Order: sequence, then C-alpha cells, then structure tokens
Amino acid sequence: MSYYLPTKIIFGQDAINNNKELLKELGCRALLVTGRSSARASGALEDMERALQELGIVYFIFDQVEENPSVETILEGRRLGLEKEVDFLIGIGGGSPMDAAKAISVFIKNPQLEGYDVFSSPQLAFLPVVAVATTSGTGSEVTQYSIVTSKKERTKKNLGQTIFPELAFLDPSYTYSLSREVTISTGIDAFTHLVEGYLNTRIDPYADILAERGFSLFKELFPKMLASDFDQDFRRDLMLASSLGGMVIAQNGTSLPHGMGYALTYFKGLAHGLANGVLTPAFLRAFQDKTRLNRMLELMGLNSLDDLEEIFASLIKLEIDISSEELEEYIRDFYSNKEKLRNFPQEISMEGVLRIYKDSLL
Ligand code: NAP
Ligand code: FE
Repeated sequence: MSYYLPTKIIFGQDAINNNKELLKELGCRALLVTGRSSARASGALEDMERALQELGIVYFIFDQVEENPSVETILEGRRLGLEKEVDFLIGIGGGSPMDAAKAISVFIKNPQLEGYDVFSSPQLAFLPVVAVATTSGTGSEVTQYSIVTSKKERTKKNLGQTIFPELAFLDPSYTYSLSREVTISTGIDAFTHLVEGYLNTRIDPYADILAERGFSLFKELFPKMLASDFDQDFRRDLMLASSLGGMVIAQNGTSLPHGMGYALTYFKGLAHGLANGVLTPAFLRAFQDKTRLNRMLELMGLNSLDDLEEIFASLIKLEIDISSEELEEYIRDFYSNKEKLRNFPQEISMEGVLRIYKDSLL
C-alpha cells in the first residue's frame, strides 16, 4: 500500500494573505487562469492580485475558461503563457479553471506538443501550479487529474498526465458567493468522490481513513443541503469534505458514475456533480457485497440505502429528455474506458451498466 500527496495545503480564512510568501518560491511571473466571473465574485482573485502585487510578482490573467474546459481553450491559454514567459500558473475557480491551469502548465512547458497528442503522451514536464478553490466539489486542488473536453472524441477525459498542484489555498469564504444550485451539484460531486474512491477495487487503508471522516461530515452536511442552510460551518465542513474526496480519488480513482456521467454532461449539458449524482443510487444498488457500503451508511447515520436514495431524490430534480438508443450509444463509449470498469470491485456486463443508466434516467 502507498499514499502519495505532494501538495501543500493551506486551509482557512485568509489563507492566501497569511501565506503569500510561499508564492515567491515559484517564480516572478505568473499566469492566473480563471472562469469568466466567479474568481472575482468570490473575492479570491482580488486576494491573489493583492498578494502578488505585494510580493512584486508580475502576473497576467487568462479568464476564458468555460465549464468543462476544451482542449482548444487550453491551447489559447498556452499562447498567452508563452507570450508572457510565465514561470508558474495559478488556477482560481471551480474544477474547470483548476484543471485548465494544470493542462496549460503542461502545454507551456512543451510548446511543440499538438493539442490532442497529450492524451497518448508519456508523462510530460509541467510548470508549477497553484490551485485556489472557489467551489467545494472537485477536490482538483489535491488531485493529479485534469479533466478536459475532447470535441474530437465527443467526450470528457482525463489528460492522462500526473499534475499535482504544488500549493493549494482552501479558504471557505470563497464559496459564500455560490448559488444554491452550484452548492448542491458540487457538494454531490464531493460526496461521489468519497463513495467511488471508498467502494473501489483499489482499497487503501490511508484513503479509508479520509473517506470515513468525509462520510461522518456528510452526516451533518446532507441535512443542511436539504434545508439550504449554508452557514459558515457548513461552508468550512463542505470544503474539508471536498478536499478529503480529492485525496481519496487521487489514490484510488473514480468508478462507474464518473465514467458514465461524462456523456450526460457532454450530450445533455448536465452539471458534473448532478451527472454523477443521478447515477449514484442505482450504482450503489448494484453492489453484491454490502459490507463497506453499510459501513458508509452507518457513518452517515443512515439506516439503509433507501434513506440515502431519498436524500438524492430531494436534492436532484431533473427532467432529461433521453432515449434508450442514446443510452446504448453512451454505453459503447463508456465500455472503452477500462479504467473505470477496473475500479468497480465486481464483474459487470454491458447490460449491467445499461441497467444503471436506465434505472436512473428512464
Ligand atoms: P466549474 O465548472 O468550475 O464552475 C461551475 C460554475 O460555478 C461556473 O459558472 C462558475 O463560474 C461558477 N462558480 C465557481 N465558483 C463560484 C463562486 N465562488 N461563486 C459563484 N459562482 C462560482 O464547476 P466545478 O463543479 O467546480 O468543476 C467541474 C469540472 O471539474 C468538470 O470539468 C469536472 O470534470 C472537473 N473535475 C475534476 C476533478 C479533478 O480531480 N481534477 C474531479 C472532479 C471533477 P465561472 O465560469 O465564472 O468560473
Ligand atoms: Fe467529480
């Protein structure tokens, strides 16, 4: 067994301001990678700009990252980074800008690399990345993954490179500006990371400790999510749970809901967390050995899977126009992703996966 997490995490109010000297070690020219508005709305961009100015670090802002960033957007970011000769990157936002910053860091360091060749390349060098999370969901600030949209293959996929951020700033106050909708969908993403990492072929005792602490946190978090009671304790605990989820999938990876959810995001525009969440109850029902599943429910103070299903039904209300034929098409793509199948700890046929889709969506 092994546990690897090379990211320095600074958690708490004013994390950036109180620890800004750490940025000095990374260079004197930075590329800030953000979405269109949330980095500013959350207060994170302002804090970072102030810190960089005080340190005398020159910075440039690439604020064109869309949700589920595309390879094409990442190449735009590379153009700016190369032109400005930056030494390191700072991703500020939800998973989309943080993942984009990781991907851009690889492309800047490898200026000849063609966009889509990255997926089949062996490990490439990259520039240091700092991650500042403004959602509590993906855990990207502590994972090596960068999930990008491949328009060529009409899906989302992992870049296939290991890019752990050097430094992660987790200040829960940056999530105060989140809407209810994004709070819920990203919170569900965090939960699914804990679940898919815990109920996984690759069991890791260190990751177990983190996942189990995460489930205990959700004992309090789910009732607050149901009541839309997003007080400061909620924001702090959800950010903690989200980073724990990231640490768990950094060791074990995700499983069927993540792999199956990509098509729902790509073709139906579903937010990432909802795409995983809508599949989670049927995924859990598919487990034959329920030992670890029952332990998880117990830690959340739930008596049965029915209780969890009820929570999900209240949090996720979707009307998706989808046909059996579309699902059959998704299944073929999904089946080519052997990694997710390997992480599911029992044999499952194509029909079994299709049943999870159908039970969840039709
Ligand atoms: P996101 O796509 O980064 O952001 C969703 C929306 O929330 C955007 O409209 C964003 O606005 C807004 N937003 C973000 N922070 C806000 C704040 N503090 N206040 C108000 N609005 C805010 O959402 P996400 O769910 O965090 O990330 C999803 C992406 O991460 C997907 O591509 C997914 O596949 C990936 N992911 C990665 C990992 C990993 O380990 N690397 C794990 C799971 C998921 P702006 O557009 O203005 O920023
Ligand atoms: Fe996720």
